[in-house]
Amino acid sequence: KTKTASTSSPGKVVVAGVTLSKPDKILWPAAGGRAAITKADLARYYEAAAERILPHVADRPVSIIRAPDGIEGETFFQRHAMPGSNPRLKLIDVHQRHPYVAVTDVGGLVAVAQSGGLELHPWGCRPGDPETPEQVTFDLDPDEGLDFAAVIAAAKTVKAELEKRGLHPFVKTTGGKGLHVVVPIRSDGRSRIEWDQCKAFAKAISEEVRRADPERFTTTLAKKARGGKIFIDYLRNGRMATAVAPWSVRARPGAGIAFPLSWGQVKAGLDPKAFTLHDAPALLKKADPWKGFRAGEVSLRPVLKAMGL
Ligand code: ATP
Ligand code: MN
Ligand code: MN
Repeated sequence: KTKTASTSSPGKVVVAGVTLSKPDKILWPAAGGRAAITKADLARYYEAAAERILPHVADRPVSIIRAPDGIEGETFFQRHAMPGSNPRLKLIDVHQRHPYVAVTDVGGLVAVAQSGGLELHPWGCRPGDPETPEQVTFDLDPDEGLDFAAVIAAAKTVKAELEKRGLHPFVKTTGGKGLHVVVPIRSDGRSRIEWDQCKAFAKAISEEVRRADPERFTTTLAKKARGGKIFIDYLRNGRMATAVAPWSVRARPGAGIAFPLSWGQVKAGLDPKAFTLHDAPALLKKADPWKGFRAGEVSLRPVLKAMGL
């Protein structure tokens, strides 16, 4: 009798040097004609996408949405290291009782998947420096029932408002209902700003957009203020605030990815549901529209001054 390699080491799968337990665990059940996605699939996805993700995630505190029993089981946000945390995850002191978790390399990304971590939500800070913002995120949240066309129009309005001030905004899907407009900012030397300034800037821009068209926009967090409007959530920009990372998958039905777009794609017919973990092999073959993200950074200091902030 001969034994095959797979029966001699049942269930053992190693990805980027990380041994997966229960690699066949189903995280997204089969749905809508799409196959189920297992933990091994997720780990291989994060390995394949590591080069695209790490510039936006590495060495920042990162909240992880874990769904160890899959998206239909219990899900929870993890910020701190937990007992038995994988040694490939780094710890960062952010002056809380416990250190926060950070990913530094592909092994760390795969370790997240190994622990049933699906989503990655980093701070908007400089790598290795939680006290210094290096991007501003405008999180566009449509009221229920609003067409995606309204979100597209909103993103373009915010883009114009930022470009007017000499900034270079980027845009991504969230894997959910809205879009994120993200502005890289210089954070070195005299360009460095504080979190309060980052949030004040995001708020001022958001208020400007709302004032120009209060029928379409609200900046009030309360859901009841939304009434058919787009909520411009500027609160993603304080110290400890997070936003989903580009290329992070979502722990929601459909396995959508927060996908970096070019502005040319942000037009009628854009379907955010077209970017999912199932589509990843094809998506990863395309050029990265966010390749020039860091090169697009501009100092906010003169902009803040001009705005009276
Ligand atoms: P969508 O497009 O569906 O709104 P989203 O990722 O923008 O997707 P939001 O609910 O608008 O979802 O949240 C924006 C960001 O705020 C998230 O990406 C996440 O990083 C952070 N966030 C949201 N809810 C929580 C929470 N309960 N705890 C911690 N952070 C959260
Ligand atoms: Mn949102
Ligand atoms: Mn939001």
